[in-house]
Amino acid sequence: MRKRITVLKGDGIGPEIVNEALKVLEAVAETYGHHFAYQCMDIGGIAIDQHGTPLPQETIDACLDADSVLLGAVGGPKWDGLPGDIRPEKGLLGIRKAMGLYANLRPARLFPQLADASPLRREIVEKGIDFVVVRELIGGVYFGEHKTEEVDGELVATDVMPYAEHEIRRIVQVAMEIAKKRRSCVTSVDKANVLDTSRLWRKVAGQVAAEHPDVAFSNMLVDNAAMQIVKNPAQFDVMVTENMFGDILTDEASMITGSIGMIPSASLGDGTRGLYEPIHGSAPDIAGQDKANPIGTILSAAMMLRYSFDLCREADAVEAAVAQVLDQGLRTADSMADGCTLVGCRAMGDAIAAAISAQT
Ligand code: NAD
Repeated sequence: MRKRITVLKGDGIGPEIVNEALKVLEAVAETYGHHFAYQCMDIGGIAIDQHGTPLPQETIDACLDADSVLLGAVGGPKWDGLPGDIRPEKGLLGIRKAMGLYANLRPARLFPQLADASPLRREIVEKGIDFVVVRELIGGVYFGEHKTEEVDGELVATDVMPYAEHEIRRIVQVAMEIAKKRRSCVTSVDKANVLDTSRLWRKVAGQVAAEHPDVAFSNMLVDNAAMQIVKNPAQFDVMVTENMFGDILTDEASMITGSIGMIPSASLGDGTRGLYEPIHGSAPDIAGQDKANPIGTILSAAMMLRYSFDLCREADAVEAAVAQVLDQGLRTADSMADGCTLVGCRAMGDAIAAAISAQT
């Protein structure tokens, strides 16, 4: 298979962690007979320095022209004083919008080797944590009308939370497709006992589920879902929810798996092209020191293989390689534990790439 990947390394540790992910993708290409062509473009602070804008038009064009996009991280103290519309983060929001990405996927997966990093009790962790939250990204209360007005001598604030059937239908459809590449189980999360938007959500989600009889489907109220994530996370495979509930539940889900350096994410729209990036920022405090954990970015590349290129065997191979090096006791500083061997960002990437090459 031949694929073109636009690479946005960004700022801080971005170039270091992305270089390791590219090393791993090359090991996959060589081992499984694929060809990946990379085009590196600027985004964030480096783009402000080079082009005067965090998202140059040529970066947008290259992303829209690619089969998929891999991103490191943007931002840093150098650009903190700039006005809002030329801040590095504007580049991120802009590229998500330009690519029409409405589904955000965040896996919550705990590698058993890092069980001690989870704040949950051992007997809960031992049942396994491996689920994905699919969050609707461009609708709901964040995009409805916001106003504060004076009524009868006091201020009254209102935030409108609109959802149209087509917005619900397409995100639940994404969740169904994701589930088919996993354990075929979808939990739709809403607040249907209170909100009209949730009652519509539940109705449309049920209709979409009926079109996918091979996927086990259920509904759960969001307050219960928040509890179940810490009480019995093993019950979940794919969770799908609206924008604000997803914002809260994805943060809760990432907390239960321990290190921030380990967690990947994907943003998808129509079609197969996506934007893949670790959930952490540019970590300026450790940039340029070969200390960053590249695993979140490497696992983001694995998500790209699975969800954009339908290369599930190759994605499994990357995840197995990560588990293997963790089994060997290799750790970057953020996840270091007693009895383990401290390695840098490059050595971690080398070890994961070597584990892939050794799999055949
Ligand atoms: P951060 O995620 O960059 O760092 C938080 C802490 O986690 C730091 O101590 C850092 O060293 C550590 N850390 C993060 N990733 C790590 C990794 N891969 N390996 C080891 N340690 C890691 O968050 P922050 O400090 O709040 O933000 C720093 C900059 O990143 C800011 O400019 C912020 O705007 C930006 N940011 C960007 C993104 C993004 O690009 N998606 C997301 C969040 C923050």
